[in-house]
Amino acid sequence: MHHFRYQDNELFCEGVSVEALARRHGTPLYVYSQQTLTDNFRRLDGAWADVRHLPCYAVKANSNLAILRLMVELGSGFDVVSGGELQRVLAAGGRADRCVFAGVAKTEAEIVAALRSGIHCFNVESEQELERIDRLAGELGVVAPVALRVNPDVEARTHAKITTGTYENKFGIPFDHVESLYARAARKRHLWLRGLQMHIGSQLTRVQPFEEAVQKVAPLARRLKDRYGIEFFDIGGGLGIVYEDALASGDPAWWRTPRARKMLTPETYAARLIPHLAPLGLRILMEPGRFITGNAGILVTRVEYIKQTGRKTFVIVDAAMTELIRPAFYDAYHEIVPVRRRKAAVTECDVVGGVCESGDYFCKDRPLPLPKPGDLLALFSAGAYGSAMGSNYNSRPLAAEVLVHGRRAALVRQRQPLEAIWQWERPAPWQV
Ligand SMILES: *Cc1c(COP(=O)(O)O)cnc(C)c1O
Repeated sequence: MHHFRYQDNELFCEGVSVEALARRHGTPLYVYSQQTLTDNFRRLDGAWADVRHLPCYAVKANSNLAILRLMVELGSGFDVVSGGELQRVLAAGGRADRCVFAGVAKTEAEIVAALRSGIHCFNVESEQELERIDRLAGELGVVAPVALRVNPDVEARTHAKITTGTYENKFGIPFDHVESLYARAARKRHLWLRGLQMHIGSQLTRVQPFEEAVQKVAPLARRLKDRYGIEFFDIGGGLGIVYEDALASGDPAWWRTPRARKMLTPETYAARLIPHLAPLGLRILMEPGRFITGNAGILVTRVEYIKQTGRKTFVIVDAAMTELIRPAFYDAYHEIVPVRRRKAAVTECDVVGGVCESGDYFCKDRPLPLPKPGDLLALFSAGAYGSAMGSNYNSRPLAAEVLVHGRRAALVRQRQPLEAIWQWERPAPWQV
């Protein structure tokens, strides 16, 4: 569910006109709904109310400080994957002791910074990393809280680029090796075996892969609790969201349609997993990213040109893969709707950006009401892995971002000034 709706054929985010925001702040523009973010967090959190738990928002999905601040206010923990993300959480007022730190390539500097700030736990992805953390903790005279990331080798049945829980992936420690690695870790003086973690993939819309993984790993979690006194089992993120019917899914009635039954709700997710998890008596951590922010954000773009080639109709817009790379990167579908609805002939269009790459498109051959130059379009479900994956390719500035709360709207990231793109570059001294 979300809070983007038409009122008299004009798209609103909560109580604010999207067109008014675009006029004020320009395009491309990200618009986020605070109520949707809040609802999403509370809904997931509420579904797990029967077990001791902590949702750790996966910062990489959308790391805007205003969103992180909201998560702090809602009582969320954080899943960070770099020293930069940890600093961001702290800058947003978050607590280090509610951060878990994942990632296969943690550098010495990142580990030291995380140890100094006192994070909740490192989610460790290899034996070498474990040795590195032990050594650095020893040098600092502290004990490092660690959980091993187990790779349960189950198929998440999602897109190949977002599957993480099989032996084809670089992530985690193979299921069969994990127990002996805990035994070795237990002998290290500067490690505290605090938990066990896994994460099988992203945008999962069926509960079976989650259930399969939890069933496989829960007995291991029990043994580790008995042997080493671990405190938590972190089941990762991956809960999927609606892309195809994104606009319609803002209406509670949509959730009673047959199409909605293909979606996995947080209630089903919790209800099917809790029976396997509650008996462990461990605190359950989860790392939702996309579920929290995905449908809470849209990308607003203006049509620059319509180009007809005889074979195709191209709608050329001012957003591009630099603002939203998901279609180019994952063949992702984003629903595209006009910000102001009016009568127009439905035409098969390719909506494309202006970056010099053939992969720079938002959709191909999609029937859309043919817009005119100057019209505004909204790309739905863009709140996760949208802005956060933005780049300066083609020297395009990072987009502006607005957070809406009821009838209020705040610019939570100003459009990047052009000079800021090259501010850390300079000619070499021998160039006059
Ligand atoms: C990306 C990631 C997440 C978040 O995944 P979503 O699909 O956005 O919920 C959680 N945990 C880890 C380790 C990740 O890499």
